[in-house]
Amino acid sequence: MTDSKGWFEKAARVIPGGVNSPVRAFRGVGGEPFFVARGEGARLWDVDGRAYVDFLGSWGPLILGHAPRPVVEAIVEAAGRGTSYGAPTPLEVEMAEAITAAYPSIELVRLVSSGTEAAMSAIRLARGATGRSLLLKFDGCYHGHADSLLVKAGSGGATFSIPDSAGVPGPLARLTLTAPFNDLDAVRTHFREHGGEIAAVIVEPVAGNMGVVAPRPGFLEGLREVTRAHGALLIFDEVITGFRVAYGGAQQLYGVRPDLTCLGKIIGGGLPVGAYGGSRQLMSHVVPLGTVYQAGTLSGNPLAVAAGLATLRQLQAPGVYATLEARGAQLARALTVAAERAGVPLTVNRVGSMLTGFFCDGAVTDYASAKRADTTRYARFFHAMLGRGVFLAPSQFEAAFVSLAHSEADLAHAARAAAEVLASVA
Ligand SMILES: *Cc1c(COP(=O)(O)O)cnc(C)c1O
Repeated sequence: MTDSKGWFEKAARVIPGGVNSPVRAFRGVGGEPFFVARGEGARLWDVDGRAYVDFLGSWGPLILGHAPRPVVEAIVEAAGRGTSYGAPTPLEVEMAEAITAAYPSIELVRLVSSGTEAAMSAIRLARGATGRSLLLKFDGCYHGHADSLLVKAGSGGATFSIPDSAGVPGPLARLTLTAPFNDLDAVRTHFREHGGEIAAVIVEPVAGNMGVVAPRPGFLEGLREVTRAHGALLIFDEVITGFRVAYGGAQQLYGVRPDLTCLGKIIGGGLPVGAYGGSRQLMSHVVPLGTVYQAGTLSGNPLAVAAGLATLRQLQAPGVYATLEARGAQLARALTVAAERAGVPLTVNRVGSMLTGFFCDGAVTDYASAKRADTTRYARFFHAMLGRGVFLAPSQFEAAFVSLAHSEADLAHAARAAAEVLASVA
């Protein structure tokens, strides 16, 4: 039987880097990825027969853990009726109703097939609705791999951005302005200089893709204020935070209402989904009501929508978010205590069930402070945890996700492993 090493060799012959999404290749921590045989609840088994308590959760979607029965049953039942029709179905309407009921800022919502597609479409809509071209994003925030979003700040504090990827035309990247996360002054400066040209500010209301970084008090409110004052739109990319930090997302948790919201991950219950929505007036710019084009062969896919609806139903049970909060807090505390005992500098950032332990001293409030983390130490920590049966994200700059499938025993296992490992990476 082929082991993980064998599969990785085979994969590398036919798939770039052997993986279908780059972070899976373990380049952030060194070594080679294991290949998954199956998952159940909080656990993953690799093809070599090893078991892991999984805190990656497929990078966010698996808030119920692996193969939750109600979701699997919903998918099987839907599949029996056909997997795609290219014509509307009742379940899509139910999903749109569930989203609009949970997110008062969303009156109309379009379902797409990925978070990337949701962000890309929301930006096109923002540009179409405002007639402006510039976009403002934050360093270290990820909104999928569409061209205008793959940019970072140019060196020397350049106003305009350079592409983060080969193949992104410079003129397109220059339409994206960047600012440090949590830095309202930088945002206000951009608006002073280009206010009339900025179509939208897009932000992860809780950053998850530089590791977890919470918004400072007043940051989201400030974005709301400055965008409104300049006639620009505020887009919350809640692809991770939607139905994660609260049922109503970060906008419910922090009480700030964006113009447009991007969703994904959890609303697909582990199948490919995304969504973007906003007020009736704004969303009326989308075809066939308006002139902003966006379409998809598999959009609102019956299997994905069935899986998503089954997931949301579980999340509506009373006490779910209190449980996620308590378990997230328990894991964060275990990491903090273990690091203190071992004398390892570790800053744990957490919002609800998403958290990151940065291997550095002092507050992590933006990408620059996140970058101070000792990635070599994280790599040693990651591999040692993996060796003790705990799977974390294979990069320092990602979130760990606690799910409803993680039991007290799973968290205790992770805490014990962290205590042993941190003592050894000191
Ligand atoms: C994952 C993610 C995306 C992209 O979603 P895909 O489904 O991977 O295309 C966009 N925004 C945020 C905040 C994400 O975490």
